[in-house]
Amino acid sequence: MDCVIYTRVSLDRTGEALAVARQEADCRKLAKSLGLRVTQVYTDNDISATSGKVRPGFETMLDAQPTAIIAWHQDRLLRLTRDLERVIALNVPVYTVTAGTLDLTTPAGRAVARTVAAWSQYEGEQKATRQVAANVQRAASGVHSGRVGYGYRRDGAAVVLHDEEAATIRAAVQRVLDGDSLRSICKDLDAQHAPTPGRGAKWNSTTLKQLLLRPSLAGLTVHRGQVVGRTPADSPRVLDEDTHERIKAVLTDPVRRTAPAGREPKYLLGGIARCGRCDGTLDDAGELVPCGGVMVRAVGRWTRQANGNSKRQPPSYVCSECYRVRRKQDHVDALVEGIVVGRLQMPDAAQLFTQGDPAALQAARDTLEAIDARLANAADMFADGTIDPAQLARVTERLRADRATAAAAVDKALPAAVPAELVGANARQVWEALPMDSKRAVLQELVTVTILPSGSGKAFDPDTVQVHWKA
Ligand SMILES: [Zn+2]
Repeated sequence: MDCVIYTRVSLDRTGEALAVARQEADCRKLAKSLGLRVTQVYTDNDISATSGKVRPGFETMLDAQPTAIIAWHQDRLLRLTRDLERVIALNVPVYTVTAGTLDLTTPAGRAVARTVAAWSQYEGEQKATRQVAANVQRAASGVHSGRVGYGYRRDGAAVVLHDEEAATIRAAVQRVLDGDSLRSICKDLDAQHAPTPGRGAKWNSTTLKQLLLRPSLAGLTVHRGQVVGRTPADSPRVLDEDTHERIKAVLTDPVRRTAPAGREPKYLLGGIARCGRCDGTLDDAGELVPCGGVMVRAVGRWTRQANGNSKRQPPSYVCSECYRVRRKQDHVDALVEGIVVGRLQMPDAAQLFTQGDPAALQAARDTLEAIDARLANAADMFADGTIDPAQLARVTERLRADRATAAAAVDKALPAAVPAELVGANARQVWEALPMDSKRAVLQELVTVTILPSGSGKAFDPDTVQVHWKA
């Protein structure tokens, strides 16, 4: 059978860059031992495959539709998952000198190859990230002279806090966290003649929001919209990182605590309100046993009117377990919204939302960081041949599960995400404008709703809808 050889020198892995000639020699040796005839050698030079740049040799090889591929290591052939998918599409055997056959024709083989490619890509991106972070850090410590942001100023070569601007930011942040509106903060800043971050003389909600969201205030460095690192620990910071997270949660992400979009019911209390029916049975402790169902939305039934026409009843909520509790949706929604919004309009309503647990947050973040370090370490051990693909797959599978747990712990310890201005005088307008997912998230954060049975045919009785505050 025929085969082709693919070789590549990458300058991004200093110290272990193998000369193309040596890779080719090793690959030819492997071809011989496999009884394969080498028909072509494709080479790419001096290109980091993670950069996403086109590799002419790789592209030519794919176009040539080889019957088998030999490479020195999977890393040499593909370091991006999308490269792997294109090689998989060829449906040919791939042999590597250091890690044996990549059997891309079986699901198990593809799973291992995808794991390795994902980790190679991760490793490459980490490297790029560290490089960018180093650049940004040099910039922040004054090696390059650039403009410093609002809240900071230059003192010789060093960047220090601009006391007045930093105080302006901190006061505004505190007010936002207390539930104040951006507009009222801007009004006060104008009254104090506080300098703005831009060219304009006056503050407005948009510029204030953008200013308060700047990651640089918490010493985070950003590249292309992604946080890539931190300024040195001893460099000045206007805000600590937790405060940055909280303000971000409040100003940008009202639905952070909800399930992924698409699976959420589109009705206010569907799956949230609970059935309050008890059929009279008692549990071992002598307590009434509740039905345990949640209220789901039911479209209205068709009914025949006296004049012979059919008419559809308005939609209702109905218990998913016993079907014995049913209530008109409009009535329940209006009642619950009225109670919740009325409470949100009170100035002290911010305290209804959970404030988060900074100690638990730090612990969960540390755990995440440790797991990522171990994942990176496993990728290194695979790259240098200390562990085989099966071992790598086992390690990453276990660590990925741990990582999901730690990420959930971070989310749990974060303060509640309260949409901007939902607390206070504007609560009604802000609530009306919220997307359904956000409304539902807020309700789940604040209250439990229980719908009690009522005799059929009676007018809506508000007392049969119980709203309890969680805080
Ligand atoms: Zn029920």
